[in-house]
Amino acid sequence: MVLRELELRHFRNLGVQELHFPPEGVAVIGENAQGKTNLLEAIYYLESFRSFRGAGDGELCAFSRDVFHLKGWVDGNSPATVSAGFDRKRKRKKVSVDGSEALRISGALGRLGAVVFSPSDVELVTAGPHVRRRFLDIVLSLNGNGYVESLSRYRKALAQRNAALRANAPTPAVRAWDEGLVVHGARVTHLRHAWTTTWSDTFETYCTAISGCDSVGLAYRSDLWRGSEVFGADEEEVGERFAARLHESRETDLRRGVTTVGPHRDELLFTIASRGRALAVRRYGSGGQRRTAALALRLTEAATIRRRRRTDPILLLDDAFAELDEGRSLRVMSLLREEGTGQVILTAPKESDARLRGPFLERWRIREGVIEA
Ligand code: ATP
Ligand code: MG
Repeated sequence: MVLRELELRHFRNLGVQELHFPPEGVAVIGENAQGKTNLLEAIYYLESFRSFRGAGDGELCAFSRDVFHLKGWVDGNSPATVSAGFDRKRKRKKVSVDGSEALRISGALGRLGAVVFSPSDVELVTAGPHVRRRFLDIVLSLNGNGYVESLSRYRKALAQRNAALRANAPTPAVRAWDEGLVVHGARVTHLRHAWTTTWSDTFETYCTAISGCDSVGLAYRSDLWRGSEVFGADEEEVGERFAARLHESRETDLRRGVTTVGPHRDELLFTIASRGRALAVRRYGSGGQRRTAALALRLTEAATIRRRRRTDPILLLDDAFAELDEGRSLRVMSLLREEGTGQVILTAPKESDARLRGPFLERWRIREGVIEA
């Protein structure tokens, strides 16, 4: 896909601007704290309708304003006009595709087909399991299959069940939520597991290609299958197993006042093989291995978009390789080129960084939020 045009209104420090992007992309160069990440955040907002930095919508409004608006024109195999706005006072978010308001945000997700690479990606490896579950939730939400709906229904059932447990409600009042939990939870678990098995080889190949040495593996872990048990192949089997585990853990759940099994406890694991054992990269990996694993995960995300939407993803590279050595960063760029990249929008504090990653891209400057083409 290609982002043709972007209209910004009071998003962070970016003021009111209209930008026309070259189809191959652009390198945006500016010193620290000028608004480079803000620009990529604005673009990705039109893909996911939230901040990729985890900021609340209220924080995205310019300090002196209560409302922001964004509008993007996207070209490619499924052209669209996507717009989004947020009113801080009324706490109201409005999203439209091709001029008509989306009743559910889930129906408007993923129109750009964009992936963000950012220096904070290393947290995908080093932070707690919830960060990796969120990664899976975002990738799967943006790529169809009804994942978003299942996830939101699962979360609702889970919240209700936990409330009943906390309130020491009688067993039938707790069990009332089990069916919803199992149906939607099985779908969530199955889709996450299926994504991981589909892409783990690709992920490993990327790791090897980037680091040029030892590879890192990717695996989905769920308490439904313990130790060396083989993960259930279809959704039905996952559901049966989940129902059985819920039954087993009811006593524990009642005692602790919280649901102790289910996809909200699962983990996406990065592993390194050492003498026949799989060690967690999070614990045992070197700094370089962690960064490599995070990059490979983003590349895998890009590959998912390429396959699911039959289009090259828009790459948003936020000073992405700041901490990589030159060899790795060149290998990543050449991988991206080999796989076929669409538009590349990259930011860098210095011209010399941009030269390495996007030698042929047009240069724009950014200063105090103002972009000059
Ligand atoms: P770096 O190179 O350090 O990553 P950057 O160019 O990516 O810098 P950004 O994070 O995009 O910088 O922008 C930071 C600037 O945006 C800061 O000056 C900050 O004060 C300003 N800013 C952040 N949120 C808002 C907001 N809601 N309204 C106005 N300005 C904001
Ligand atoms: Mg930045």
